[in-house]
Amino acid sequence: QSERLEAAIALAQHRGFVFPSGDIYGGTRSAWDYGPYGVALKENIKRQWWKTFVQRRGDMVGLDSAIILPTAVWESSGHLKVFSDPLTESLVTHKRYRADHLFEAYEEKHGHPPENGLADIPDPEHPDKVGQWTEIKMFSGMVKTYLGVVDDESGLHYMRPETAQGIFTDFKAVQQTMRRKPPFGIGQIGKAFRNEITPGNFIFRTREFEQMEIEFFVQPGTDEEWQQTWMDLCWKWFTGLGVDPENIRWFEHPKDKLAHYSKRTVDIEYRFGFVGSEWGELMGVANRTDYDLSVHQEKSGKDLSYFDPATNEKYIPYVIEPSFGLTRALMAFLVDAYHVEETTTADGKTDSRTVLRLDPRLAPFKIAVLPLSRNERLVPTAKEVADLLREHWDVDYDDAQAIGRRYRRQDEVGTPYCVTVDFDSLEDHAVTVRDRDTMQQVRIPIDQLVSHFAGLLVG
Ligand code: ATP
Repeated sequence: QSERLEAAIALAQHRGFVFPSGDIYGGTRSAWDYGPYGVALKENIKRQWWKTFVQRRGDMVGLDSAIILPTAVWESSGHLKVFSDPLTESLVTHKRYRADHLFEAYEEKHGHPPENGLADIPDPEHPDKVGQWTEIKMFSGMVKTYLGVVDDESGLHYMRPETAQGIFTDFKAVQQTMRRKPPFGIGQIGKAFRNEITPGNFIFRTREFEQMEIEFFVQPGTDEEWQQTWMDLCWKWFTGLGVDPENIRWFEHPKDKLAHYSKRTVDIEYRFGFVGSEWGELMGVANRTDYDLSVHQEKSGKDLSYFDPATNEKYIPYVIEPSFGLTRALMAFLVDAYHVEETTTADGKTDSRTVLRLDPRLAPFKIAVLPLSRNERLVPTAKEVADLLREHWDVDYDDAQAIGRRYRRQDEVGTPYCVTVDFDSLEDHAVTVRDRDTMQQVRIPIDQLVSHFAGLLVG
């Protein structure tokens, strides 16, 4: 699996899915740019998510809240306090570690906490070097920025580390303007920022990333059932878009390790194949109870409860939060779709091809139009066919190199169908349509192409 991961990452980089940010200046490990195929894949993931969880549900609405919110939001939510970790640096290797993790590891091994604190703890890479640590410093996970004309602390603001808080602060406005009653939810897709200590593993952990989050507001007492419902829906979303169920699993957060707002959190993990730990968190479904709305009500002084006229009951809704990492999901879809297959060439030789078996709904391009050669009679017809199809779908056009090589290039980026314009096309006004997965070819009249693909490319 780790070889597959390496290969998928290499493909993503050399085929224009993902580039290191600022690469001409040496790049940065903590941010990545999405190239032409990457941005198309990312948009398609977002579209599928929005269709499934917002458009097709009568109990969901959408929102796009700001990235920089009033600082009071982060004071109330607890992020300014909780989002900071105790860090220490090894004087031996100059690597940074979370002190609480070092303490936990020590206690697990010895059955008791270190009596003299860091002084008792060896370097993880050099067990003979004990107690060689810098003083513990608190490190904030919040990304800071400064707004306003005066460049001083008065302008200090924070970039959101999750999209969720914008949903909580707008809860009342959405509920009232849309005249909703629980159970109902609000979905949002957008950037989030975290000053991660160790960004890495490609786009798995970055300082700037995207999330797709749902805050689903329910009557207290129905929360446990709703959490199970949302867990099932999230699992189904990934498998419905082609993720192999063998490559995902549930992880139940132990009660004593839950986030400060959570009653229960269950993650879906994906088998990324990282060296060291194969599985990595893909998304989580948390029961945030009435924690967030309650603290915002208390700190803002605004009533954030819901009054149910049918029962004359007033309550602060409980919240079930399915929280997806969009860029992490993109990485999982890429790795899961990556396949190398044995094939047989026309003259009977065995060959191999790399194919991204992306669900057609996610594929960056749905169709590639390929003239058999760069012939002056084929090219204009091929361009007309491409323009015809572009009205409906994302279409790639490629006339460089041999046709076999071009099929392979389209397989590599997951294009479900290739349309080849050959010399016969000039006579019979038909083209050859090749299927990415089966490599079967069928002849279709040009004037029936749109209806042919309309039947194949749905959703
Ligand atoms: P982790 O334990 O991996 O740091 P987390 O538990 O802090 O993640 P949440 O706060 O639950 O993550 O965030 C919800 C989702 O957002 C995660 O499941 C993940 O998909 C995504 N996410 C969180 N942090 C990052 C990051 N630094 N880079 C990319 N995606 C992230």
